[in-house]
Amino acid sequence: MSDEAFSFNLAETVVKWVDVGIFVLNKNFEVQLWNNFMAHHSGRPSEDVVGKNLFDAFPELPRQWFTKKVNTVFLLNNFAFISWENRPYLFRFAHNRPITGGADHMYQNCMLLPLKAEQGKPEAVCVMVFDATDTAIAQNLLKEALEAISEISNRDGLTGIYNRRYLEGRLASEYDRMRRYGGTFSVILFDLDFFKKVNDTHGHLAGDKVLIEIAARVKDKLRSSDVLGRYGGEEFMLILPETHLDGARIFAERLREAIELEPVIFDNTTIPVTVSMGVTEHRADMPGYASLIHQSDLALYASKAAGRNRVTCYEPALEKLAAEGKH
Ligand code: GH3
Ligand code: MG
Ligand code: MG
Repeated sequence: MSDEAFSFNLAETVVKWVDVGIFVLNKNFEVQLWNNFMAHHSGRPSEDVVGKNLFDAFPELPRQWFTKKVNTVFLLNNFAFISWENRPYLFRFAHNRPITGGADHMYQNCMLLPLKAEQGKPEAVCVMVFDATDTAIAQNLLKEALEAISEISNRDGLTGIYNRRYLEGRLASEYDRMRRYGGTFSVILFDLDFFKKVNDTHGHLAGDKVLIEIAARVKDKLRSSDVLGRYGGEEFMLILPETHLDGARIFAERLREAIELEPVIFDNTTIPVTVSMGVTEHRADMPGYASLIHQSDLALYASKAAGRNRVTCYEPALEKLAAEGKH
């Protein structure tokens, strides 16, 4: 057997048996070759398909899109690649993974190669179909897991609202957004009054219930763009986009009143709850987002000093009071 004859057989055998779909189309989209992989997965033997127009044999194919792809290969005389990430599959083949595998079809990468005689323009296009199901399933699982982890790492375990880490990130990004595009937003910091007494009197579980209930009630009253998080033990922060100080103060007052008017019930015990609040608004001359935390904190402690269960807006005079240690 000559080398040439040997390599000819080798190529033919590999094309026939390789675990990759291979088929060849001429310019009229008539199938010239249809390997075992294609026959096996489509359920259509080569005798059934070769000589037929691809779209007559498989009317379910995305005709317009695939025609354009193949014609580009003819025209440019160059390779083309189709990733499962852009289009999950060309042929809707079943895959051989367990049902629980997370895919209901075979994901495919496709490669299109121009076939031509030594010189000249391509006379046919060879399409290779690679089973990318394992990669796709792994990648999809990884993506879901990363999303779940990122969601969990932003949440407070007890109340389910955002945690301090997320709040600080949001403050930073809102602050940057104001720098770039202008606009405003406000911050409300609030702290439960005499909460230690709730724990001491009714127990830690009752205290937990109060935190969960207050978080849920406040969350219920927000616009979808507002951000609520637990800043510390019994301290919460609200970020209110597109809200001026006056609007934030009115909203804070409404929240404060609603919390005061509806005590938390735990184990048939009525637990009165009040909160003290500090409010501030972003200003263009702030050196950083930490100023918002500092200012809302000062205002909050002014509310505490003035007797609790009230709302205070930040004003520069509070800096002087704080420095003098008045509260
Ligand atoms: P003030 O009006 O000045 O804020 O008084 P306070 O008692 O609320 O403040 P203090 O800082 O003295 O006490 C806060 C309490 O909050 C103490 C702490 O045990 C309690 N606490 C913090 N985190 C949790 C929690 O997750 N669950 C419960 N049950 N209690 C918590
Ligand atoms: Mg407190
Ligand atoms: Mg506190």
